[in-house]
Amino acid sequence: MKKAIASVLLCALMAALAFSVPARAQGTPARTDYQATRHYYDSLIAGPNPNLAALTLLMTMMPKGGDLHHHYSGAIYVETFLDWIKQRAYCIYRADNTELKANKFRIETKPGDLGTAARALCLDIDQVRDPSRNDFYRELLSRWSDKDFKDHFQQQVAPDQHFFDTFGYFGSFSDDDYNQGLRLLKARAIAENVQYIETMLRSAPASDNPALARAVNELRPDASPARIEAALGPLHEFLTRDDATAKGVAAYLDSIDAAAAGIDDGEFKMRFQAYVVRSEQPAKVFAGLYSAFAAVNARRRVVAVNIVGPEDGIVSMRDYSLHMRMFAFLKQKYPAVRLSLHAGELTLGMVPPEGLQSHIREAVEVAGAERIGHGVDIVYERDALGLLRTMRERGVAVEINLTSNAFILGVKNEAHPVLVYRQQGVPFVISTDDAGVSRNNLSGEYMLYVSRYKPSYDALKETVFNSIRYSFLSDAEKAAELKGLAQRFAVFEARARALANGAPAKPK
Ligand SMILES: [Zn+2]
Repeated sequence: MKKAIASVLLCALMAALAFSVPARAQGTPARTDYQATRHYYDSLIAGPNPNLAALTLLMTMMPKGGDLHHHYSGAIYVETFLDWIKQRAYCIYRADNTELKANKFRIETKPGDLGTAARALCLDIDQVRDPSRNDFYRELLSRWSDKDFKDHFQQQVAPDQHFFDTFGYFGSFSDDDYNQGLRLLKARAIAENVQYIETMLRSAPASDNPALARAVNELRPDASPARIEAALGPLHEFLTRDDATAKGVAAYLDSIDAAAAGIDDGEFKMRFQAYVVRSEQPAKVFAGLYSAFAAVNARRRVVAVNIVGPEDGIVSMRDYSLHMRMFAFLKQKYPAVRLSLHAGELTLGMVPPEGLQSHIREAVEVAGAERIGHGVDIVYERDALGLLRTMRERGVAVEINLTSNAFILGVKNEAHPVLVYRQQGVPFVISTDDAGVSRNNLSGEYMLYVSRYKPSYDALKETVFNSIRYSFLSDAEKAAELKGLAQRFAVFEARARALANGAPAKPK
């Protein structure tokens, strides 16, 4: 059955290719591989209905450099989580029952401790996958990810709520075996010609000092920079001297090294971003940021700091400027630490218009971010043109996540600001955000990018090279990766040329 479908798809693809590739005129000088690829690519994106199937094939083959906006737990597909739950002999509740403390679709990690009634409510993975429970299985896939969301209209929560809720199901379980997960992500990356990932694996540890935390937690949202500094100073001083904090950072770095064991080789590299969650109490955010900065400063595999979580949340909106001041405070003390910040993952209607006017600017100008994650509300920013100019001049790159933005924000097609960034010469990269939750991959993101926005082949290549250029690798590593990327393009263009000519592509 599968074979039949595959051959039908192949025939359709061949027909599409044959239809779209113009025959070379007699006497035309032979094209180089690059020219042939460019010509073929142009033919696929031409017209009102780009050749999506052939573009998907081409984008899958194309080297894509790095994926710079990548959340580890969001990158794992539900099917993989189920494999891991089976290995651990955990179970999943099939129904809600308050008395038995059962929550439908939640993982139970201690099935042996359950009473008979509760155990009967909790399904082993083989039971979850039993064809007789297909309805439950499909519903689980759609609750743990964005699958089928757009095809159902009854009793739905808002898409952004749905998206962030998915992490509640597998979030606590996803740290079970980082190394296994990273190996899987590496294999997936290599299969789609990706050579580098910068992932957000774990949040940075945060120490507590209730006495010093109070002054930070009591800061008013409109506190002056001087007052903020005065509150942060003593807590920072404490953290730098606190033994438990130092041990926490060391353990954090060791856990990242253990997770990354065996990942880097000549074909693929992975680096990590330490992050904090923006909905936490201010002192906790600051303590986490301190640890994150210390982790980057140790110059091991953690290369940058980020801040995550829904940006339109009550605390996120209230404390946004305070968070940026915290970054500024720590940046002064540790200027070599690089920042990529989620900023402007908002659009009109999510918050009042005033809430759309300054997040990206503050991330760039106050915090000192070198990359911006999403940057979708740029068109609503105060003096957006001035900000775009600053970003262009400083080389602040924007991480564009098309599927995620379409799902969470409803911003897509011509409404997506990638066109504004492109027109204003602001560098950007294409990234996945949460491929497992979105059920996509980086090739799929590129397919959306080229079919919707039709960049020239040269501009497309530039965007791919940006994904290494604007990575947080060291200069020497970057040079090596850029060289490797150029070699990959030479191989790709030779294969694309063969594909364009109708010959079967040679194996790699
Ligand atoms: Zn993200």
